[in-house]
Amino acid sequence: MPRRIAIAGAGIGGLTAACCLLKEGYEVELFEQAPELSEIGAGIQLSANAMHVLNDLGLGEAIAGFSVRPRAYVFRLHDSSEIVGQFPLAEDHEAKNGAPYNQLHRADLHQLLVAKVKSLGPKAIRLNCRVDGFEESEDGVELKLADGSRASADILIGADGVKSAIRAQIAGASGASYTGDAAWRLVVPTARLPANFMDPVMSVWMGPGRHAVCYYLRGGSLLNFVGLVETEEVSEESWTAKYPWEALKADFEGWHNDIQAIIDRSDRNACYRWSLFYRPPIEKWSTAHVTMLGDAVHATLPYLAQGAAMAIEDGAVLTRALEQADDTAAALQLYERNRIERTSRIVNGSGSNRTLFHMSDQTKLRQAFANRDEGKARNEWLYSYNPLTVELM
Ligand SMILES: Cc1cc2nc3c(=O)[nH]c(=O)nc-3n(C[C@H](O)[C@H](O)[C@H](O)COP(=O)(O)OP(=O)(O)OC[C@H]3O[C@@H](n4cnc5c(N)ncnc54)[C@H](O)[C@@H]3O)c2cc1C
Repeated sequence: MPRRIAIAGAGIGGLTAACCLLKEGYEVELFEQAPELSEIGAGIQLSANAMHVLNDLGLGEAIAGFSVRPRAYVFRLHDSSEIVGQFPLAEDHEAKNGAPYNQLHRADLHQLLVAKVKSLGPKAIRLNCRVDGFEESEDGVELKLADGSRASADILIGADGVKSAIRAQIAGASGASYTGDAAWRLVVPTARLPANFMDPVMSVWMGPGRHAVCYYLRGGSLLNFVGLVETEEVSEESWTAKYPWEALKADFEGWHNDIQAIIDRSDRNACYRWSLFYRPPIEKWSTAHVTMLGDAVHATLPYLAQGAAMAIEDGAVLTRALEQADDTAAALQLYERNRIERTSRIVNGSGSNRTLFHMSDQTKLRQAFANRDEGKARNEWLYSYNPLTVELM
């Protein structure tokens, strides 16, 4: 199997894939458009299906050191905080799925992955290198870089996020359409909040046309808040777009005192809001020498908290497919074949959660949760998946 692999994009997906491939002895070059490596100041949740990969890379202990392991996943009504559904995480999640459920600061995870890539391949990362496209030949692929230069590899992996240049070349325009939702994000130091403010749980607060997600980071010293609101106002698709605090306050007017406390104690100059776009799943992920992973190929609404987890799974499965198949094209097909169904199911499941979480009739919402066992369902197919051992066919 050819050994020289180029990756476009050093986000969580590209970095994890680089680690998996370097660990197996591949030569990896990671091309990142940004002049420096960084992640936004927000939280991320990683369930067992993603943690298997990070544990295998030897990162589990470091992650345990700076993450929070929530006791439970809790679904509440937006005004009374009444719990209408919940399922255990912590020991239960680990016992059922073989790895823990962690809540982390994205920058901590990103830095850890960067350090791991550097330890396995000190020269693997190239900054200020935007990949605009590629040209394939029988033997491999040439990357077209934004500065006009070229780089060659046996295989190219597009891990270049929702606005992927690699996706555009393989599958054409992404057909992005506005979902009708905007996402707020902010973090608040726990010291600013009332004492014993919120249990260490993953809380989803559900109200008409919107919901909010709250959980702790960094050993409980920070509280992460994400608010998802239906709005006709379309804005930039950028996680770093600041938005007025007053609009945040208005978006959650009438919500429970705990939500007001978080909003009131947030930094008024550090509230971010951006529009969420839907990109329909694509059928063709790969050519003979090029494939994609992560948001580049299956961007999702964040309503199952699985976007980065899928990107992490992709890197592990792709590495295994390269080891298992006889040639590059067969390996990329094996990878694609074994990822499409699962990633599409997650993308569609995230969309269904939007309808559920945003219901305005609380009686129907209570009933919907009474009729389903959310924990059992997720443990059965979502969290129990192990990308290191699942049979590739
Ligand atoms: C509000 C919110 C909450 C979320 N919470 C969770 C969660 O709890 N759990 C979870 O698993 N997921 C979560 N997600 C999803 C997750 O953040 C994404 O799915 C994940 O970050 C995707 O990683 P990626 O590496 O594929 O893409 P990205 O993180 O977008 O990385 C792409 C990288 O490629 C670079 N790049 C772009 N274009 C080029 C180019 N042409 N050439 C070179 N480099 C390029 C970019 O600079 C960037 O570094 C959430 C998402 C949102 C919006």
